[in-house]
Amino acid sequence: MDKYNCWFQSIENSDYKYDINEVIYRCSKTGSLLEVEHDLNELKKKTRDYWKDLFDSRYRRQSWPYGSGVWGKKEWVAPFIEDKNIVSMYEGGTNLFWADKYGKQVGVEDLWIKMCGNSHTGSFKDLGMTVLVSAVKQLIANGNEIKAVACASTGDTSAALSAYCAAAGLKSIVFLPKNKVSVAQLVQPLANGASVISLDTDFDGCMKIVQEVCKKQNIYLANSINSLRIEGQKTISIELCQQFDWEVPDWIIIPGGNLGNVSALGKGFLMLKDLGLISKLPRLVCAQAENANPLYLSYLKDFETFNSVSAKTTLANAIQIGDPVSVNKAINILKKFDGIVEQANEDELATSSAKVDLTGTFNCPHTGVAVAAFEKLVKKKIIKKNDKVVIISTAHGLKFVDFKIHYHLEQLKGISNQFSNHPFEMEAKVDKVLEVLEKQIL
Ligand SMILES: *Cc1c(COP(=O)(O)O)cnc(C)c1O
Repeated sequence: MDKYNCWFQSIENSDYKYDINEVIYRCSKTGSLLEVEHDLNELKKKTRDYWKDLFDSRYRRQSWPYGSGVWGKKEWVAPFIEDKNIVSMYEGGTNLFWADKYGKQVGVEDLWIKMCGNSHTGSFKDLGMTVLVSAVKQLIANGNEIKAVACASTGDTSAALSAYCAAAGLKSIVFLPKNKVSVAQLVQPLANGASVISLDTDFDGCMKIVQEVCKKQNIYLANSINSLRIEGQKTISIELCQQFDWEVPDWIIIPGGNLGNVSALGKGFLMLKDLGLISKLPRLVCAQAENANPLYLSYLKDFETFNSVSAKTTLANAIQIGDPVSVNKAINILKKFDGIVEQANEDELATSSAKVDLTGTFNCPHTGVAVAAFEKLVKKKIIKKNDKVVIISTAHGLKFVDFKIHYHLEQLKGISNQFSNHPFEMEAKVDKVLEVLEKQIL
């Protein structure tokens, strides 16, 4: 496996390269983000069919760690990590939910929802974190001194980081905006033994502090500024194509906050195309909450300028980000994929999330943003009746039960409650039950 090489490279100037075993997050010459670049010439020595067969032969099998959706693509992801240092929880391999019933209601039948939240800690963040924490184990095995791994988080990153660190026996420290994460999001890091630093600020404020703290101590920074995570997340694209027998959908819609995931999605598709496994690219749609929409505002101006915003409170709290770290990567990707940015307000995201649940999903509010964006693009006739569409569901709805129950009990302010559903209460008597059944249910 050693013959497959990768390195860090500045996203602004490909002449600036850094060793993959260096602890580095930004290009020291340009200050820009880094990306992991793979030796494509070496990978291209194998045929398209070789890679397809290899990935298929490993997919969801038991040969550790290759049954994982991430590590089954190890040569394309992180070939420098020795198997013994891999920290894996069988991430990836998530269901492609055929949303035909809901699709019919909206007028697009070839509609699929990739359930990336059906995962160890309940969000797609596991895909990136398995790579990052494994890389830390490898760095330590190489003799680096790393005291702990830290992140700022709107909730899901900290859950993933603390679970993988606990499994690896590493100390994790998570910085959370006080009172802005759900109970489920707070309890995961606590249960996994992370040190939780609760700060009286928002995500953007936590992000600034964690970067300073990591600089001053031997603490490894796990935010998506760290391009290793993107390598794991890009397997969403590879796995999607694999699940469609290497057919490429017309559209992929993904919610975006810090904009790492949309960048990762694009990176995966570009690699598939470079290596000949697919021959066309899908169009990408990044869906933002209207209350945290800096990329949408930039898109309206053809990405000519970008200004961060002060993010307002949104039900989709994992994307309540006004100053996204991966904005330049995301804009590069969206330009290459004839991309669109759409937004959804609070009523639209809550209504769409509830509407799609009525056809069998249990979605998080961020997925609600993507579903609402989908409906808007169908209405605008940009997405057409016969298009093949995939919505990326980023987290499990069970992490967001407060949002769900408040919606159904009609306790959310300013939300129209079109699909709310609440319990019927009555005396515990058969005739009372029959009466309610006859009058209101049957
Ligand atoms: C992190 C996260 C997002 C946003 O991903 P970015 O890479 O920050 O754009 C969306 N949904 C959920 C549930 C998340 O945890």
